Amino acid sequence: MTGFLPVDSLDTPRFCGVPTFMRLPLAQPGDTLDAAIIGLPSDSGSPYRTGARFGPGAVRAMSVMLRPINPYRDHINVFERLRVADAGDASVVPGYLEESLARLEASVSSLVDQGIVPISLGGDHSVSLPAIRALSKRHGPLALVHFDAHSDTWNSYFAGKRYSAGTPFRRAAEENGLDPAASIQIGMRGSLFRADDVSQSVDLGFEVLTTDQTLDLGPAETARRIAERVGDRPVYITFDLDFVDPANAPGVQTPEAGGPSAREALALVRALAPMNVVGCDVVEVNPLYDGPGQITALLGATVALEFLGLIATGRASGVSGAAP
Ligand code: MN
Ligand code: MN
Repeated sequence: MTGFLPVDSLDTPRFCGVPTFMRLPLAQPGDTLDAAIIGLPSDSGSPYRTGARFGPGAVRAMSVMLRPINPYRDHINVFERLRVADAGDASVVPGYLEESLARLEASVSSLVDQGIVPISLGGDHSVSLPAIRALSKRHGPLALVHFDAHSDTWNSYFAGKRYSAGTPFRRAAEENGLDPAASIQIGMRGSLFRADDVSQSVDLGFEVLTTDQTLDLGPAETARRIAERVGDRPVYITFDLDFVDPANAPGVQTPEAGGPSAREALALVRALAPMNVVGCDVVEVNPLYDGPGQITALLGATVALEFLGLIATGRASGVSGAAP
């Protein structure tokens, strides 16, 4: 399998060329792909710091630091296992969330309908809802693996509004886009507006591991709990950068002190067992608040590449792939 490799950074320097994710080819109509990077640059669902609309560009810019071989998964070259290209960004209607969600769903659907696994770059967390809508139309209710300091299962936010970065997983569960009985949220922590902020997820049927619980369990046992929860269901993985401590990921909308380090977060992602990943996202990278060196964007890019490695490993072991 050839033809969809990143530009060789040993031949052409990283700061040259077209700034796609890892300098992969830009997707062209008719390409036969296993997975595609797609930017979902909406921050119209942000209750606090806006700016995640610039997340996809920031993640792509730092993704040039990544290299194709994954030493945590048998030294596979991800791009020799999967045909991957960068599909660019979806369009949005800034300030109009529901119209933006419709546009995002149409763009993700155009990939999903071709059997391409979308690797979405947010955008605030509201962008997970249209991706789940697009995928569940094809695969049925999905298992969710959700890394986040917050549950994002509120019923509404501000004047009873049903769509925001704080509500996508309640909406997705209500719409049967998710199967809560096969879903797990990892990383909840911090102060709350209401005492039931975490228990509302449990009431919806999700399993919840707080930051303290997952750090006590360690990456291997947390990964085992995740695998047990999702089984062989089609899985959507979503990674909100505020899962990570603000010391390591300051460029987010709603930082939450006392989270896992970048190292701890990556250890967990790298411990994930092969599963039937049909889509995933990395959201809430906000370069307007990022630290020197664009460390949040770098971590987001790294997580996205680890998800590609997970998908490649899953394909090899026969548990994963864009289902027909
Ligand atoms: Mn979130
Ligand atoms: Mn969050």
